[in-house]
Amino acid sequence: MLKLLPSIILLLCLGCNAKKSENENFKPVQVNQSSASVLTAGEVIGRIKDRVTCDWREETVDTYKSGNPDTKVTGIATTFLATLDVLKKAQKEGLNLVITHEPTYYNHLDDTEFFTSDPVYIAKRKFIEEHNMVIFRFHDHWHMTNPDGIHTGMINELGWKSYQMKTDQMIFELPEQTVGTLAKTLKDHFNTPAVRVVGDPDLKISQVGMAVGAPGSQRQIMMLRRDDVEVLIGGETHEWETVEWVRDAHSEGRKKALILIGHANSEEAGMAYCASWLEEFISEIPVQFIAAGDPFWGPGLD
Ligand SMILES: [Zn+2]
Repeated sequence: MLKLLPSIILLLCLGCNAKKSENENFKPVQVNQSSASVLTAGEVIGRIKDRVTCDWREETVDTYKSGNPDTKVTGIATTFLATLDVLKKAQKEGLNLVITHEPTYYNHLDDTEFFTSDPVYIAKRKFIEEHNMVIFRFHDHWHMTNPDGIHTGMINELGWKSYQMKTDQMIFELPEQTVGTLAKTLKDHFNTPAVRVVGDPDLKISQVGMAVGAPGSQRQIMMLRRDDVEVLIGGETHEWETVEWVRDAHSEGRKKALILIGHANSEEAGMAYCASWLEEFISEIPVQFIAAGDPFWGPGLD
């Protein structure tokens, strides 16, 4: 069922051609939201484009992945990734516009050519189409808006605002602790077995960098090279690139370590924040964050 916000909204006279002189007593009409679907997907995305602080790029992955911009929106779900489970939850809540940070169809460009006869893809697509859902990716511009929406959500999630360095919003001066202690804190925080560490667990550190998601090994190594980064917290990486750079750096006696927390854990809070950001300029329809969660499990997690 569609969850309604306080049910009365103001409907301005959009598209009304009446001349002012004929319409002296015009007042905005109050209507019950249930009697009028007020926003299309295209209008929601238009507001997002107006609100981000960066110009909207022509070349971007931030596009419709399924559905039609003319679809009337009953509610918005934000999520790290539009998994089938997320889509089912959104559909159950009456949220037919899903705004996802990462791809829906298993590759960065959501190129479906490889999947045209893939049963997993076909079943997912069928669910989306049967329920008239619209999926829009909000990745590039959510990172490019200032401050980066994913970073903002993650810093709030970890409570690290007061540790943030002035020089870089993703470098933190934490109370001194060992790499092992920091890794355990993150593992407990995200309740995941997927935290993995390279380097000395007893290394005392306080200067921490964070590289969310999968920015690539060069960007991760560039952060690790900084004098003010002793340990880098990352989402994911190719195991034979950044991981091995850190292993060699450690062998050479350098004070460097890497903690990988998984891509989802490293970004999901940014899409929870996205829901509250959307609510600042979309009040006509419900907006809700739906967690995709960490896909990994491992033996031995309590
Ligand atoms: Zn991201």
